[in-house]
Amino acid sequence: MLGTTAVLAADLASGAVHWAEDAYARSDTPVIGKLIANANIEHHVRPRAFVTRGWLESSWDLLLVGAVILGAAACFDLLSWPVWLFVACAVNANQIHKWSHQNAQENGRIVTFLQTRKVLQTQRHHANHHRGMKDTHYCSITNVLNPVLDEFGFWRGLERLIEKTIGMRRRPDPTVPMKGQPVPA
Ligand SMILES: [Zn+2]
Ligand SMILES: [Zn+2]
Repeated sequence: MLGTTAVLAADLASGAVHWAEDAYARSDTPVIGKLIANANIEHHVRPRAFVTRGWLESSWDLLLVGAVILGAAACFDLLSWPVWLFVACAVNANQIHKWSHQNAQENGRIVTFLQTRKVLQTQRHHANHHRGMKDTHYCSITNVLNPVLDEFGFWRGLERLIEKTIGMRRRPDPTVPMKGQPVPA
């Protein structure tokens, strides 16, 4: 039970980061624009472009955050196996996302086995994020949370709350055409 909770907490964290980047990181924001917004927009235009990147190139930022979480947990004497499991899953969220853009031959037997057993997010499930407005299926580790969060309009609700409280609106996704306009190249 604790293990499942740790994995789902990491899945939720992956979704929260992805949602925040897709919804609020803008191309013209200093530093963040180049580092995050452009990379996300590129991923929506060319979903497989990032699969050639190595683990460290895709995961160095998550590795840093994971180290901070482990350090903080150690300081407060909270280091336990569920915390390690949470960090291990969260640090690998981008790698798992990459696997959901690759086929079985590219992923090898172990990853493919975990995907067919639905321990890891499947290609078919993640493809839902790349359809339409690209505003659903933000979590990238398992298939479990996305249907629940999307069914209840969780991310949309957060966006409404943010707009009401601090007036910040979700940015339009430049890869999604406005009515009557073609998708930009
Ligand atoms: Zn996205
Ligand atoms: Zn993707």
